[in-house]
Amino acid sequence: MTTYVYDFHQGNRDLKDLLGGKGANLAEMTNMGLPVPPGFTITTEACREYLAHGAEPAALRDEVGEHLRALERAMGKRLGQADDPLLVSVRSGAKFSMPGMMDTVLNIGLSDDSVSGLARQSGSPRFAWDSYRRLLAMFGKTVLGVDGELFDEALDAAKKSRGTGNDLDLDDADLRKLVKTFKEIVRDRTGRDFPQDPREQLDLAVRAVFDSWNGERARLYRRQERIPADLGTAVNVVAMVFGNLGMDSGTGVAFTRDPGSGEQGIYGDYLQNAQGEDVVAGIRNTLPLTALESIDPPAHTQLLSIMGTLEEHYRDLCDIEFTIERNKLWMLQTRVGKRTAGAAFRIAVQLVDQGLISMDEAVTRVSGAQLAQLMFPRFGPAGQAEKIAQGMNASPGAAVGQVVFDSDRAVELAAGGIPVILVRRETNPDDLNGMIVAQGVLTSRGGKTSHAAVVARGMGRTCVCGAEEIDVDTRARRAIVPGGIVLQEGDVISIDGSSGAVYLGEVPVVSSPVVRYFEGDLAADGSDPLVDAVHRIIVHADQVRRLGVRANADTAEDAGRARRFGAAGIGLCRTEHMFLGERRQLVERLILADGDEARDAALAALLPLQRDDFVSIFTAMDGLPVTVRLIDPPLHEFLADLTELSVKVGVAMATGQPVAEEDVVVLEAVRRLHEQNPMLGLRGVRLGLLIPGLFALQVRAIAEAAVICRQAGGDPHPEIMVPLVGAVQELEVVREQAEGVLREVAAETGVDVPALIGTMIEVPRAALTAGQIAEAAQFFSFGTNDLTQMGWGFSRDDVESSFFSRYLDLGIFGVSPFESLDIDGVGRLVRLAVEEGRATRPDIKLGVCGEHGGDPDSVHFFHQVGLDYVSCSPFRVPVARLEAGRAAILGRVG
Ligand code: PEP
Ligand code: MG
Repeated sequence: MTTYVYDFHQGNRDLKDLLGGKGANLAEMTNMGLPVPPGFTITTEACREYLAHGAEPAALRDEVGEHLRALERAMGKRLGQADDPLLVSVRSGAKFSMPGMMDTVLNIGLSDDSVSGLARQSGSPRFAWDSYRRLLAMFGKTVLGVDGELFDEALDAAKKSRGTGNDLDLDDADLRKLVKTFKEIVRDRTGRDFPQDPREQLDLAVRAVFDSWNGERARLYRRQERIPADLGTAVNVVAMVFGNLGMDSGTGVAFTRDPGSGEQGIYGDYLQNAQGEDVVAGIRNTLPLTALESIDPPAHTQLLSIMGTLEEHYRDLCDIEFTIERNKLWMLQTRVGKRTAGAAFRIAVQLVDQGLISMDEAVTRVSGAQLAQLMFPRFGPAGQAEKIAQGMNASPGAAVGQVVFDSDRAVELAAGGIPVILVRRETNPDDLNGMIVAQGVLTSRGGKTSHAAVVARGMGRTCVCGAEEIDVDTRARRAIVPGGIVLQEGDVISIDGSSGAVYLGEVPVVSSPVVRYFEGDLAADGSDPLVDAVHRIIVHADQVRRLGVRANADTAEDAGRARRFGAAGIGLCRTEHMFLGERRQLVERLILADGDEARDAALAALLPLQRDDFVSIFTAMDGLPVTVRLIDPPLHEFLADLTELSVKVGVAMATGQPVAEEDVVVLEAVRRLHEQNPMLGLRGVRLGLLIPGLFALQVRAIAEAAVICRQAGGDPHPEIMVPLVGAVQELEVVREQAEGVLREVAAETGVDVPALIGTMIEVPRAALTAGQIAEAAQFFSFGTNDLTQMGWGFSRDDVESSFFSRYLDLGIFGVSPFESLDIDGVGRLVRLAVEEGRATRPDIKLGVCGEHGGDPDSVHFFHQVGLDYVSCSPFRVPVARLEAGRAAILGRVG
């Protein structure tokens, strides 16, 4: 029989699938003997069943009942008991942390009866009524669907009538009144009274947590973070401990190291006389954790010791939530903490130096996506921009954009391509859509553990928080900064997530130190700990990886950069650009040539130009392979636009102007070459077979360039790649011609530079007949852009903007298959072609040069299917090196 409920003693940290992250770690801490309030976890499986059938599994009620009784026995009081109530919190907790995206209800068990019991037992009527008003608001909003602002407004009104802005100034009479108001709000809005039966409260709260899995913001967050939609959340029912019992109580969040910079040393926020979400919601400004040292020295000492224990145990940065109830410390949560990309690298090598993890493990602790983030530009000197405020450096990066004060407006402006900075007093989970589209987030309240900071770090979004000098008025859509400057919507500001500085105007950006390191301009010599960490990790990844990494580059400049970034050659040198610009005229002459002579003349004019291009690329990649792809796109791309030219000629004719002879000829050619589906038309190898001499010209240019390089003492390694092959016969014809040209050039020059001849595998039929094609190909390079386009049958140029967002919404795919390889479909074609290609020609060289070559997940797949190398844009080469290393290590483990 399925078990739906686990006591904390029964779980452990490996059960995240079932107990969610929070439940699994509460169980782990319980079993470590740390002070965790007793409780139990309702599994994700129960949630999945609820979501599938619209009702809780039948056995759940009794199981919860049993565990509740055990909890009551342990605590010596019953849930909601009138004279001394046991209260519980009901907290969501999915496998992957989704900060603030789902719901939590505290103080379940309080009622009109038990609130007096709690007042007597605690000796603090204020505390009892404060707890009750919190329950009513949380329950009203979360469980009963009442607009939360109504409670906030009532609370604000109560504070105002007391002439205060601080909730601590409300006394028990005020709070009692507030409870009455809250109950009226509930009745007004729902047509029913707040349920007084504690078990009913509990069951409804559990159901609300289940439901919150499919809440709008949770769905949005999952899509953003690529968390599968069908996992469901667990629910933790925990005996309440109270941080709002007076100034000897409080609640806090902390990290075992700085999650922003990776600096060693604990780090956190504390709020006295507060409960639950107060800290992260930025209700009052928090104290730094160090303040606890003087407020409550024993609790502080114990907390530090527990944090040390947790780090050793988890061998990683942990974040925690804790509560102090009348000087007694309780641990409410821990998990391996989110961190910025820079912190991830630094912490990984610190842990190696502390002997907690190996270098292999350090490589798996960071990701290509994080490395990519570190390669973004930073702010340079502020120049004209004026620094107007200083906040906390919550999530690094350099963001420039127009100020907006609400998330919907941010979405609106960003949709029009306007970069925006979301400016709020504090954010809450409803701001997620705004945070996603904004360049950066600026808040005036809350610390580094506030919602804004945590979510921004998770998304890699720049964030400055707690810039208290800024007075944000979201209703009036303006903010006042020191010196009386008024920021209006639309004003441009720059925020520096690494220093916390806020500037009026645009601050220019400079390249990141990590890029300067890869460029060779900055040494890993101990002067920048981040650069040192990246260096150590990438060097280790290089040592362990099996996959080679090449670059897609078609200029000497790109080739040079790719080489500095660690590319071991060029996997795709597209030759299209060599026919553009001023050379377009020559191509036009080639297309319009009305006989062999005119055509040969056009080709002859192109030859030296192409040859020079190749000389410079081979020189930049001296000693390393360069795969040159013969021309791919349809020829009309090199001619004038059909519509434009038709209009030009048509207008001239209609108005009796003279029509240029040349225009008429070109228009005729454009019409002749026009295709309804150019991507499926006369391109690639088909073009080479149809236009005599075109491929031969390119092969000659390659061969002659190689000879020139060799004669100059270089070591060129050309590889000739034929695009769009679908049948071995196509390749055979081209190969024969190409070999003829190579022989001719060798004979003419007396220098024989061997060149491999191979093909792209980018048409599904090529993948399906790879065994045959390998007879004629010395290498394959998977063109996964076209293979995706043709495998799915959708145009890569059109569909991403037309219906992909709908497909993503519907969960048809979690990420665009042009971004991350569709492993089940297109991946299957790749796998088949690898197997059959190798069966025919065991030493065939196999690579990939579609965009996926630089995508982290796809790199892992290419490692698994046994490709020899991936090829990607120069900037992604370090990312691919790192991911190839990670794939090798994780493959060994798994
Ligand atoms: C491909 O199709 O994956 C490829 C690399 O070629 P292109 O993007 O130039 O079509
Ligand atoms: Mg292609």
